[in-house]
Amino acid sequence: MSEELKARIRQLEQELGEQHIRYDRLGSMLEKSNNQAHTFYNISKIIAASNDLQAMIPDIIGYIHKCINFDRITFYLTDEHEEKLVLRYANGLPVEGAVSIGIGEGLPGRIVEVGEHSHIHDLSLFYETFNDFIHVPGEEKRDGAYIGIALKSGNAAIGVIGIDSQVKYGLTVEDMDFLALTSHQISAGIEKAHLFTRTEELAQLDGLTGLYNHRVFKERLEQEVNRRSRTGKPLSLIMLDIDHFKQFNDNYGHQAGDAVLKELAAVIKGQCRHTTMDMCFRYGGEEFAILLSELEFAFALKVAERIRRVVERHSFGIKNRFSGTTMTVSLGVAGLSGRDDLRPEELLKQADDALYRSKESGRNRVTPSPQDAT
Ligand code: GH3
Ligand code: MG
Ligand code: MG
Repeated sequence: MSEELKARIRQLEQELGEQHIRYDRLGSMLEKSNNQAHTFYNISKIIAASNDLQAMIPDIIGYIHKCINFDRITFYLTDEHEEKLVLRYANGLPVEGAVSIGIGEGLPGRIVEVGEHSHIHDLSLFYETFNDFIHVPGEEKRDGAYIGIALKSGNAAIGVIGIDSQVKYGLTVEDMDFLALTSHQISAGIEKAHLFTRTEELAQLDGLTGLYNHRVFKERLEQEVNRRSRTGKPLSLIMLDIDHFKQFNDNYGHQAGDAVLKELAAVIKGQCRHTTMDMCFRYGGEEFAILLSELEFAFALKVAERIRRVVERHSFGIKNRFSGTTMTVSLGVAGLSGRDDLRPEELLKQADDALYRSKESGRNRVTPSPQDAT
């Protein structure tokens, strides 16, 4: 073989080698964009299918990790009053208890305060200027790179996703762009989950008094009766009805009546334990129900008597035309304890019958259900 031919072969081999490298690069670029497209698709699928934030965040992070090679990630969201950032997810970091930081505190806090993304190629330079944390307070300083993405709802920053790599320049501009793009989807998902929760809450509440409505009462009554038949712990129910309320409406008008209902709801709630053990409901019209779980009947009677007394002494309608008006209420109390076995509607009927007897025997009083009084 002539030298000329050999040289030509070497040249061709070199060219082929270079082409192979180019194809390889192109291949990995295509693979990367294919991966990114998949991630976009999967994140939107998760967001469309779920309204449970806590469940969707780990899945979203899993997909991001398929596209970006990061070492650690933190996910903060603002609390409902938008005063604090609550750590919702920290990968590779121990999260003991509820970690929260102030808006403006640390790098995540500043990203939320300013509402702009941050890309740091060399963290050692960052630490020279800021003696601060990049993920959680008190963490060790580390070399490497960082990207923080502000999650936004309209113009307001609602959280931040922070990732780091232990390698300087280990996070690229492409990574940043990709994360910034997904952040729009993620923000929309967070907003949707918040709205869903709020709508669920609103659907449980009575629009006038803010107490739980009749539907929730029926559900909880059944749940509590079933629960107590398993645990054997006591359960008490108070039913309450305003005395001569029609008369009040006739005298002062329906609007004043509504104001009284609202005020009375607050008075009743004020007399209950501030836990989920006591639940106050607007049963309907001017009737209220109070479900007291794990409270002995004798104590429930005391609660009912206290409510009766407090209402009797309360001056309704401060600053209103009916200012200083007093009201009275009639109450009936029923309870389950020990081996009692009643259906929810039977317990309700007992409390209702007792309330009826309070009305019959002169109003402004508490009557125990006969089954329990004995
Ligand atoms: P009693 O002592 O026997 O309970 O007398 P009452 O007048 O309270 O009882 P009645 O059942 O005859 O009337 C209940 C009244 O409550 C009827 C209605 O005028 C009033 N009421 C019911 N729901 C509402 C409401 O949502 N707003 C207002 N303003 N009034 C209501
Ligand atoms: Mg009534
Ligand atoms: Mg009434």
